Amino acid sequence: MSKNRDSHRCSFCGKDKNDAIILIEGLDGHICESCVEKAYDIIEQEILERSSSDELFNDEIASKTPKEIKDYLDNYVIGQDQAKKTLAVAVYNHYKRLGHRDKEVEIEKSNIIFVGPTGTGKTLMAKSIARMLNVPFAIVDATVFTEAGYVGEDVESILTRLLQVCDYDVRMAERGIVYIDEIDKIARKSDNPSLTRDVSGEGVQQSLLKMLEGTDVNVPPQGGRKHPEQKLIKVNTQNILFICGGSFDGLDKIIARRLNTQVIGYTHEAKDKVDQTNLYQYAMHTDLKHFGLIPELLGRLPVMTYLDPLDKDMLKSILVKPKNAIIKQFTKLFEYEKIKLIVEDEALDFIAETALNYKLGARGLRSICEAIFMDDMYELPSEKGITTLKVDLAYAQKKLSGSHIEASLKVA
Ligand code: ADP
Repeated sequence: MSKNRDSHRCSFCGKDKNDAIILIEGLDGHICESCVEKAYDIIEQEILERSSSDELFNDEIASKTPKEIKDYLDNYVIGQDQAKKTLAVAVYNHYKRLGHRDKEVEIEKSNIIFVGPTGTGKTLMAKSIARMLNVPFAIVDATVFTEAGYVGEDVESILTRLLQVCDYDVRMAERGIVYIDEIDKIARKSDNPSLTRDVSGEGVQQSLLKMLEGTDVNVPPQGGRKHPEQKLIKVNTQNILFICGGSFDGLDKIIARRLNTQVIGYTHEAKDKVDQTNLYQYAMHTDLKHFGLIPELLGRLPVMTYLDPLDKDMLKSILVKPKNAIIKQFTKLFEYEKIKLIVEDEALDFIAETALNYKLGARGLRSICEAIFMDDMYELPSEKGITTLKVDLAYAQKKLSGSHIEASLKVA
């Protein structure tokens, strides 16, 4: 064959240029589109076969002890020590389990459930741990799902989000972390198993079971509802860590009832030891069952931990301590303008107190800061010669009092 003729053929299958859609030229030959596809399949298969569970257990994860995991979380999450410890141990065990498949004793998955008021750091903890482990992370809201066949999204689309964050790399997704928020909102409406269908509560809980436990799930690539013509992607959830979170409003009453009945018959001393101001810390799986989570679901969320409500000191720390703390961010923004930002301690107290008084939680801190710094962020870049911005109590009060946020807080 002459060199000239060869330059018009695929060097792998011999297909003529005229019969190929694309003929890609290499140094010494060509390849057609169908050979590229075949080669891709071969590579994919080979990678899949080579990947033992040991490989899934990447070095970064293997090298971290629970203490180190907690230390990492400390950089981002203020307080919540108990929750951080529990999470660190659960995550450590989860990835240990992936690294050491034991045929005799199979270690069960340690999916986690967080109980705690909104805005106390549940999502932040899940997000931080995923960042540390460098695994894909998706946040989903349990309230958008309904049982198959009803209006809403199929639970399988939980995994769509995970696939999307890692560009549909199934192997990556299969060791990711999913945070399912508002799990309390899919509690069944009464403690008794329902006779009528409860498509957005108990029905959804039922459909989550297999996925949480670990199974092959056929995932619609674009999410939403599955439909027959759609090509589905198979994802195995065996190694995906699920973290569920909810505020469980009203759970304190269930806990109080349980604690009171337990205390009867014992000395009064036991009752006195109960911290009535934060009953959530005594939450147990049985309480969540009474709240309306089905036992089968709870069984698949064996690790439970609670988060403390944020007090003023915690809110103040959130302003300045985390690696990406709000005040650090504003300081940086002003630094770009060559302005040194100094926020006095009393001003920080004032911001934290305002967030607390208006029950805004940590989410409110940013809006309050935005209101305080807005004028300066607007004006200072066009003013010359200003090198320092000092925010003391009076200044913070003055700026907030004239802002729209204060007006809306008063209305609320
Ligand atoms: P939720 O408990 O409702 O999931 P989030 O984790 O989404 O709350 O918290 C909302 C925001 O408040 C976070 O992005 C974070 O900036 C801040 N935040 C809440 N709790 C903490 C905390 N304990 N430490 C540091 N920041 C926090």
